[in-house]
Amino acid sequence: MSIDKSELHAALKKYFGFNKFKGLQEDVVESLLSGSHTFVIMPTGGGKSLCYQLPALMQEGTAIVVSPLIALMKNQVDAIRGISKEDGVAHVLNSSLNKTEVKRVKEDIVNGITKLLYVAPESLTKEENVEFLRTVKVSFMAIDEAHCISEWGHDFRPEYRNLRHIIGRIGDNIPIIGLTATATPKVQEDIIKNLGISGATTFKASFNRPNLYYEVRPKTKTVDADIIRFVKQNDGKSGIVYCLSRKRVEELAQVLQVNGIKAVPYHAGLDAKTRSSHQDKFLMEDVDVVVATIAFGMGIDKPDVRFVIHHDIPKSIESYYQETGRAGRDGGEGHCLAYYAYKDIEKLEKFMSGKPVAEQEIGHALLQEVVAFAETSISRRKFILHYFGEEFDNETGEGGDMDDNIRHPKKQVEAKDDAKI
Ligand code: ADP
Ligand code: MG
Repeated sequence: MSIDKSELHAALKKYFGFNKFKGLQEDVVESLLSGSHTFVIMPTGGGKSLCYQLPALMQEGTAIVVSPLIALMKNQVDAIRGISKEDGVAHVLNSSLNKTEVKRVKEDIVNGITKLLYVAPESLTKEENVEFLRTVKVSFMAIDEAHCISEWGHDFRPEYRNLRHIIGRIGDNIPIIGLTATATPKVQEDIIKNLGISGATTFKASFNRPNLYYEVRPKTKTVDADIIRFVKQNDGKSGIVYCLSRKRVEELAQVLQVNGIKAVPYHAGLDAKTRSSHQDKFLMEDVDVVVATIAFGMGIDKPDVRFVIHHDIPKSIESYYQETGRAGRDGGEGHCLAYYAYKDIEKLEKFMSGKPVAEQEIGHALLQEVVAFAETSISRRKFILHYFGEEFDNETGEGGDMDDNIRHPKKQVEAKDDAKI
């Protein structure tokens, strides 16, 4: 399908009400419309959904969107329906639908009304669904959260490994677009290989977050007091403190409260009502600090989070990047402070000891990168971006001086100078 730029902009305005494409979106949309396999790597919040939603709405046939999370699919379907005022334009196909609902979905697809069909990978692999999809016009296949295909990603889903085979059965020459926010070269290779899209046109946005300040402090017995001091110095600002265990979350939230800080705990062990009330308090700024396990954060869009503290070091650089990435979404200040003790690494190693050997090996390799990051004396931003396969020069690059190692170089340098005298 060949399309000129003014048509693209008109469609963007018509369907989404946006005046401009964000980042690489326009190039991605063009690539997909031209029928090429396409691979998109953009940080969370970069606007990946539109990269397949817009071409789907502009083309004949139905785009099949594979996504791992039912909640995410529902959100997207609701949003698309809101845009087009036609319920049939987007559907979810999953096992929760009854016979009548499935019939309606299929009719809408056959009648050319449905532009986007969201499916979980386990529904797509169902024989009856494959048989049906073989008979309809598919514009392209979008594989969202494509890192789920890789054991090196943070969320491996074995069902993703069947996708290539299924796509082949649904039709020949169906363009495929894979999208992910995981930028490590290993995961990218895995995605390209497993989706069989070696010729894909690849679009990779920068993962640099120049407004975030990265700092790692040694973790000692006084870590709680240190955190209290930090939060008090940032009085009235919003922040998240991540802890590994629910127990620690509860304890630390209480310690902060006792010290006059407006803080609430958040973890999966709290009932749904408490969780959503604590989340709302944070969003409404009734409290300043959420002390949380990693259960907190997915899909939480508070633009002015001013600090993210890791009371416990995360298990991979990806997790660290995702979690610190919740600071400074508005482009303003964002202080990322992590406490590091090797003991905590050993604890994380121990957690993995019950897992299959292959998983342990990967977990160990990811942890070693965390150790290297915590202990490095080079630019932390350079380290993170290098990990994501991106060149960064901290002398000239944006945000190049925004970390503890650059602002306050380690003592070793002085020691070396002394030795010279
Ligand atoms: P990702 O999947 O990359 O994390 P999303 O697709 O969820 O990102 O988009 C993040 C946000 O960016 C959404 O709120 C979306 O509405 C907004 N957005 C996407 N494209 C544009 C655009 N061209 N102009 C303005 N906002 C956009
Ligand atoms: Mg997304």
